[in-house]
Amino acid sequence: MRYPWQTVAWNHLIARRGSLPHSLLFHGRKGIGKLDFAYAFAQSLLCREPAADGTACGQCPACNWFTQGSHPDLWVIDPERETEAGEDEEAKPVEKKAGGPIKVEAIRELADFVNLSSHQSGLRIVLIHPAEAMNVQAANALLKTLEEPTPGTLFLLVTHQLQHLLPTIRSRCQKLPLPSPSREQAAEWLAAQGIPDAALYLAQAGYAPLAAAQLADEEGQGRRRSFLEAISVPAKLDPIGLAESLKGADLGEVVNWLQKWIYDLMSLRLAGCLRYQTDFDGALRTLANKARMAELLAFHRELTAVRRTVGHPLNSQLVLEQLLFSYRNLTRAP
Ligand SMILES: [Zn+2]
Repeated sequence: MRYPWQTVAWNHLIARRGSLPHSLLFHGRKGIGKLDFAYAFAQSLLCREPAADGTACGQCPACNWFTQGSHPDLWVIDPERETEAGEDEEAKPVEKKAGGPIKVEAIRELADFVNLSSHQSGLRIVLIHPAEAMNVQAANALLKTLEEPTPGTLFLLVTHQLQHLLPTIRSRCQKLPLPSPSREQAAEWLAAQGIPDAALYLAQAGYAPLAAAQLADEEGQGRRRSFLEAISVPAKLDPIGLAESLKGADLGEVVNWLQKWIYDLMSLRLAGCLRYQTDFDGALRTLANKARMAELLAFHRELTAVRRTVGHPLNSQLVLEQLLFSYRNLTRAP
């Protein structure tokens, strides 16, 4: 995908798609969507029926292979975003891995790919991200490939640390700066993603919207975990205190956590397995043994009713307090 603030850069690049150099180096700040831009461009080049503005059709066989990560003419070296075939696609955008350096072996493996003739369109694309992760040997190996370009092969390098690349690599690639969004554009985009307190996260992330989205996501995970920890032992639950500590929180978000929690409890009762809160497996199993199905269902209905009122002006702290009292009663002895 590409982002609203990338439209000008995109249009310039698409206009040149007939006369591309053999290597492009996308650079710009961290967290502004450079990698997504590079992927979108690669997909556009491999797509059989891109739209007039260059957007890949998303439906042709080439696009299908591309989105499944199995296009035979695309080779990706990305220690931060390695997805094995069959991995959960939903986990991809914000997936975080330690990363690590790109080693010379990874570049040597390229040679076979580059020297094969292309399977489909006559074009092969190599995407390397983050390019600054190449160690010296890897960079030197890549340099050899760049110095003797194979016709029909396009290298797309992505970096936010241009100065950490070997000067010889930099000079072999055509550099393409990607813009950061204005603060307004960034805030607008984050808000459209449904992220509350967008301004706060943006400021923390230095106005890099993707980094801000990741921060918001991590904070959301932290809030979710501490809430679930607080309710995982109902006997210790203090409904008034917990509701008080969640003053000003998004009631919809809390109800959503509770709904998934109850869903898991019911699923454990009925099928012996859980779906959402795999990180609370032990606590949920203990609870599921104590809870009674009829009461779980009743509480589920209560949650659904509250869900409908979310967004209406009412005292969310009181509503939450009431919910937590009902919840605590679930596992009480009859
Ligand atoms: Zn397509």
